[in-house]
Amino acid sequence: MLDRLEKERTLTDGEFLEILTTTEYDGELGERADAVRRKVYGDRVFIRGLVEITNYCRNNCYYCGIRRGNRLCTRYRLTEEQIFSCCDEGYGLGFRTFVLQGGEDPRFTDDRICAIVSGIKDRHPDCAVTLSLGEKSRESYGMYRQAGADRYLLRHETADEEHYRKLHPAQLSLENRKRCLFDLKELGYQVGSGFMVGSPYQTSECLVEDLRFLQKLDPDMIGIGPFIHHSQTPFADRPDGSFELTLKLISVLRLMFPHALIPATTALGTINPRGREMGLQRGANVVMPNLSPTGVRELYQLYDNKICTGEESAQCLECLRNRVAAAGYRIVQDIGNVKR
Ligand code: SF4
Repeated sequence: MLDRLEKERTLTDGEFLEILTTTEYDGELGERADAVRRKVYGDRVFIRGLVEITNYCRNNCYYCGIRRGNRLCTRYRLTEEQIFSCCDEGYGLGFRTFVLQGGEDPRFTDDRICAIVSGIKDRHPDCAVTLSLGEKSRESYGMYRQAGADRYLLRHETADEEHYRKLHPAQLSLENRKRCLFDLKELGYQVGSGFMVGSPYQTSECLVEDLRFLQKLDPDMIGIGPFIHHSQTPFADRPDGSFELTLKLISVLRLMFPHALIPATTALGTINPRGREMGLQRGANVVMPNLSPTGVRELYQLYDNKICTGEESAQCLECLRNRVAAAGYRIVQDIGNVKR
């Protein structure tokens, strides 16, 4: 079955379910995924400098620590100068991609976002700018692209309609999330999507739907991480997602999308101290160290106990460089475009 998954990059729903619900294939799956990533990307690991520009959000997703309804969250917004200075510092450290991430914050108007994107591109023309700022109109996405944005990350979170309803309030819809993703593709962005593993009410069938949706979208980047509860959300008492299942899905995704940029996420490193290293060994090829000012890192808590909130950017990178090397890979100074 794994032979077929590797060659044809797909399986039947029943076969996907068998892989997801048994441990029979786990060892071989991880080895094959690593071999495929080495064939396409060698031992190279791309770094993305993450700048968390605002933790204000107009939405109220039930799983998210910075949801509008969390009155206990101390809010912040970075100024343009702070954002530029994070990128300048990152550039000096060897980063060639900056990811501007934030909640859906109306104070970051389209004009302001465009000015920030073009400001970064003016300062660092050899770098890619990735945005991760949520659902916007096609017109807004077009403006950001015109201003120089290269990539956009927007996880679909779950491709199952009923499941989506259980994770989000009625104002948000899976239909609009999908519309955003296809608009972004049409506008020429390198697009990233992904989902949570083990979110409340998720079934194995939901995960198969996630894989099917990704086949339709054919994204350049796929970010998945275990669901981790946040104590100030409606899902405070829900159990966290499975580390092993997340690793398994990273391997499945690598075989389905050999070219994809798949991060070993911070959530993976939060749920297991060696999570990111093990993610790399199972098919991931990207890490996203934090470049946000240390003073605000604690405040951008989508889930509890997020790691790497105390270190300076340089320390954070050094720590990751050592971890990646110990796992058998190499962090490179590269814009890290997708290799189609
Ligand atoms: S998941 Fe994103 S859109 Fe939803 S509340 Fe959190 S930051 Fe806002």
